[in-house]
Amino acid sequence: MNYDTYGSNAVELAIDLANADRADDPHWAAAFLQAHAEWFDPTTAFTLSAAETAQAAETADLVRAVALAGAQAEVIERLNALLALAHPQPYATDHDGDLHLHYARPEASVLEQLTTTVAMGLSQVVAQHGWQRLGVCTAEGCANVYVDTSRNASRRYCSNTCASRSTVAAYRARQKA
Ligand SMILES: [Zn+2]
Ligand SMILES: [Zn+2]
Repeated sequence: MNYDTYGSNAVELAIDLANADRADDPHWAAAFLQAHAEWFDPTTAFTLSAAETAQAAETADLVRAVALAGAQAEVIERLNALLALAHPQPYATDHDGDLHLHYARPEASVLEQLTTTVAMGLSQVVAQHGWQRLGVCTAEGCANVYVDTSRNASRRYCSNTCASRSTVAAYRARQKA
């Protein structure tokens, strides 16, 4: 599987958004954008109104809903709800040295860039590689979603941290038994 393209990388932005810790922080979305600044045009302002922050949360919920879906019909329905929020305007650029396409124009608002990039990136990977590539971490106490980029699609955890935590827990359980 080739995950080197912008579109395939954009799915990581979608996954990060779905896993973003919103807690009670009204500025979580602005903080998320700041932490993922490389996805946006350098001139983009990371300021969001309360309504825009709520829309970012809606996008995050839809990404999670796609990852949680257990049947293809559900995946399609949820992907289409997500895509309805996107307004793709393909844009050619070589800002990193290689000519490639972005899904949103650099002058679009940051929310527009985020929503469109996330929706298109997630949809492209699901359409190309299958929705079974999306999953929810099986580590105890973790509800993060992930995209499985492993060759044999054997991933079960959102991160190495959760994988090793679970290995240690399983080992301890065996020792006790
Ligand atoms: Zn780029
Ligand atoms: Zn996890």
